[in-house]
Amino acid sequence: MEAIKYYSTNLKAPAVSFKKALLKGQAPDKGLYMPDCFPVLEKSTMDAFSKMRYPEVAFVVLHAFLKHEVPADILRLLVNDAYDYSVPLEHVCDRKYVMRLDQGPTASFKDFAARMMGRLMNHFLMKEKRDLLILTATSGDTGSAIANAFYGLDNIRVLILFPEKEVTVRQRKQMTTLGKNVEVIAVDGKFDDCQAMVKRAFADPDLATLNLSSANSINIGRLLPQAVYYFFAWSQLRKNTDEQAIFLVPSGNFGDMMGGMIAREMGLPVRQMGIAVNENDEFPVFLNTGEYQKIEPSKNCISSAMNVGHPSNLSRLVALYGGVMDEKGRIEKIPDMIAMRKDMVAFSITDAETRQCIADAWHAHRLLLEPHGAVGWAGLQKYLAMNEGMDKDQLFVVLETAHPAKFPEQIQEILKFDPDLPPSLQGLEDKEEKYGFLKHQYEDFKKHLTGMR
Ligand SMILES: *Cc1c(COP(=O)(O)O)cnc(C)c1O
Repeated sequence: MEAIKYYSTNLKAPAVSFKKALLKGQAPDKGLYMPDCFPVLEKSTMDAFSKMRYPEVAFVVLHAFLKHEVPADILRLLVNDAYDYSVPLEHVCDRKYVMRLDQGPTASFKDFAARMMGRLMNHFLMKEKRDLLILTATSGDTGSAIANAFYGLDNIRVLILFPEKEVTVRQRKQMTTLGKNVEVIAVDGKFDDCQAMVKRAFADPDLATLNLSSANSINIGRLLPQAVYYFFAWSQLRKNTDEQAIFLVPSGNFGDMMGGMIAREMGLPVRQMGIAVNENDEFPVFLNTGEYQKIEPSKNCISSAMNVGHPSNLSRLVALYGGVMDEKGRIEKIPDMIAMRKDMVAFSITDAETRQCIADAWHAHRLLLEPHGAVGWAGLQKYLAMNEGMDKDQLFVVLETAHPAKFPEQIQEILKFDPDLPPSLQGLEDKEEKYGFLKHQYEDFKKHLTGMR
């Protein structure tokens, strides 16, 4: 078999290698890169996953995509380095489980994708003796995820701008106590000012030699690693190799759920994917009616990382079902809606339902959920209500995407206690912080960047 190529979902740019798609991020026609075919794993291969640790499963799944581009021994080192934390599968009742994707350095499922993308980028850059400067503006969480994902990599430097008065002390400390290749700057302005300076730097021809990159969430290098935990959960929980699982995924930009759809294309026995969104219900409406209308501006819900009125990965899902959706959300070719409705169901969960679900899960099962995972668990309750008489033996896995300790206000309000911090978030208070200051003036920022070499 030849190397897999990556085409643009807008179909107006040439297909490229994995390396090129990874280092470019977005295609020149503003589409997203998608593999032009999916490697299908042998049953015996998937069978063997049940005895493997997470990094070993990650190796097999990623090697299937990357075998022509990343040597096996190197890929092994990268997955071992990226996945040095546990992936708990918590039994709740019957054959219903919660997969906790919150044991990474920033206690968010985004660690799975960002850490692997960073290591793959570093590998290609090292080979070419090139450096990259990742430039990012953050209002809190993205910055720490990026900082931790790229921390300690030799050929990548990270520069993060944050609005001095708009991030919490804990969010700031998660970025400013790292050091090494991570530089952090406080800006006396708002998030939008930081974002505007970063955008201007990307477009500035004087800075072209700096090799700037944004490492943003639509990168194919973030998508593929998200297929791995679906294989892992299934392999740990299945009774036999033909058993089909149903996953419930709390979703915002749909990167997480696309990981599951990719796993399914690779042969994972998935009976259905359940997509749970908050009050931003553009996708459930689309799935039911075939009409797509983005929500502008998006609604503010307590599951704040899912306040998305137009999921950027939706064009990838549409492509998977033979359609074309451009970056603005216009449907140029309608996907096979009948097949899509067979493979997936979608639920919109209100904030009131989310709060109720956090309370119910705790009181009925001593299951501790934060607002995002609660949207997923509430989705499961709706699924069961819609499918009365469903076999008690059906395997369900709900994804919990962040650690409850990241949302102490909501947990305190609903359950009247403070969740314990996971080890990765402990001890921040005692660490030394280091960061610079800038006024929100582009010329100052540019001077700083040119002085960095
Ligand atoms: C980003 C995020 C999500 C949404 O994931 P998508 O891939 O954008 O659908 C859900 N929960 C948490 C905690 C997140 O940070």
